[in-house]
Amino acid sequence: MIEELISRVSVGDDDAIEELSIIADTDPGRLTPHLGSLLDRDVLWPGKLYRAADTDVVRRVVERIDGGRTPDRLNQLLVILAHSGHPMAESAMRRWSTQPPAGADKLYVGALSYAREGGWTVGPDGRRRDLCGSAAYRWVMRETPRRPDGPTCPWCGSPLWTAADLDTTDPAVDAALEHTGWSGRLVIETCHFCACYTTLYSQVTPAGDTVWWTGNTRPSYLGSAEAEDPPALAQVTGEARQSPYQASAWDRGGSTLGGRPDWIQDAGHADCPGCGQPMDYVGLIGGADLDDYGEGAYYLHLHQPCGFAAVNYQQS
Ligand SMILES: [Zn+2]
Ligand SMILES: [Zn+2]
Repeated sequence: MIEELISRVSVGDDDAIEELSIIADTDPGRLTPHLGSLLDRDVLWPGKLYRAADTDVVRRVVERIDGGRTPDRLNQLLVILAHSGHPMAESAMRRWSTQPPAGADKLYVGALSYAREGGWTVGPDGRRRDLCGSAAYRWVMRETPRRPDGPTCPWCGSPLWTAADLDTTDPAVDAALEHTGWSGRLVIETCHFCACYTTLYSQVTPAGDTVWWTGNTRPSYLGSAEAEDPPALAQVTGEARQSPYQASAWDRGGSTLGGRPDWIQDAGHADCPGCGQPMDYVGLIGGADLDDYGEGAYYLHLHQPCGFAAVNYQQS
């Protein structure tokens, strides 16, 4: 069945790409024996198809980049390596960060920065750090009454939105946040309106305190908006997802605590204002789960050592 999908993909069948993508999200290991064949047919996109690539396939991609014969495909090849997260991919990407391969002059970022597409980074200490966890849970929306006298957005006056209220005493929350090192309650408040225009940061404590970060910079293109009520919804942590890759920024029911983000655009891991490093990923709230006409998705981030949380937003 997978081989049949692959032959359909190579003649430009988009439905077959979609079916392979679903397998890559639910059970990526099923694609592993077929990725050599996908590479033979030059199907390089979406890179997530290669997230369970084995050593043989990773070596072929590295050799292709080193061979320099297809510099115009460098971007797609690096995304594949980033998704694989394979140690051989990591070591090649480290090497290319100082010895750029053919085609690198056309990239917007260095080879190692591509790691973020696969949810990892290399820190200032030279060590690899995974930005995402492996446990993921459905986030189910429940109607909730809003506090009448809660804090408001200093920019647009809208009541702040509680984008998350979590506690690691819940074993599911603890598993989903394990990679962040967080222990305790985590409340993330943001402006549901202004977060659509820029990354909004807040300072958080394990006691559940959350304060708008005074260093947030209002974008000049954000005009004088009318105050708007945030969604009167709160997430309840639901059943465990079969794989960490099943968050959906598009579909109803796609909101997910933990696991990996479903980026609509390029990877948007927020940088921590405290230390400048990319923050750890916490979860995704899909616009489709907030509103019948909702679109786009909110992405939640945390950097425990600095006590910063962040919310950003992407749409097509
Ligand atoms: Zn606002
Ligand atoms: Zn930090």
